[in-house]
Amino acid sequence: MKTENTVWHDQHISKTQRAELKQQKPCLLWYTGLSGSGKSTIANAVDALLFQRGCHTYLLDGDNVRHGLNGDLGFSDDDRVENIRRISEVAKLFTDAGLIVSTAFISPFAADRAMAAEKLAPGEFIEVYIDTPISVCEQRDPKGLYKKARAGEIKDFTGIDSAYDVPEAPAIHVKTAELSVLECAQQIVDYLLEHDFVK
Ligand code: ADP
Repeated sequence: MKTENTVWHDQHISKTQRAELKQQKPCLLWYTGLSGSGKSTIANAVDALLFQRGCHTYLLDGDNVRHGLNGDLGFSDDDRVENIRRISEVAKLFTDAGLIVSTAFISPFAADRAMAAEKLAPGEFIEVYIDTPISVCEQRDPKGLYKKARAGEIKDFTGIDSAYDVPEAPAIHVKTAELSVLECAQQIVDYLLEHDFVK
């Protein structure tokens, strides 16, 4: 609930100063894709490559956030929206801290991704579409979720009985069925280098 007695305090040290100290341009890599498409795997690999380069990063992983900050939320429509809202607010704070932030959530609805993008400064939101055919995701099934969904044990499962809005113009389009994990991660790091987010 919003309180009327709180005011926004401008801080003495700016986002630009923090970013300069870190020698990087803060941004949010918003990974989206089906369950098992490779979001967490690739986001972790990108994080490792960036760490090797001396970059300051932070990865907000879907399952981990649901254990803590969003532990009170379920999978109803309202809770899914609230889940994304909190994540994007946290991601915004972390970019303000000068970090290169990654979020790895299915985030199936274009409207929710647009809501997240709107919170960030122009150019800071980078949509990364982890594009993996559902047949491949289902074959990988790293958490056994497709098996459960096909057996009717999980309802509203993205790609089976819940929609996934394919990103129309993602900044980065990664085809994991055609590339190794490292090649996928390198594609993303190359984008950050080309656009001067990292050196
Ligand atoms: P998500 O986070 O999208 O649910 P995960 O990263 O948890 O997906 O699982 C993806 C699975 O696919 C992992 O077991 C990973 O090792 C495997 N995999 C195989 N090839 C690739 C690839 N090129 N990119 C990403 N993951 C891959």
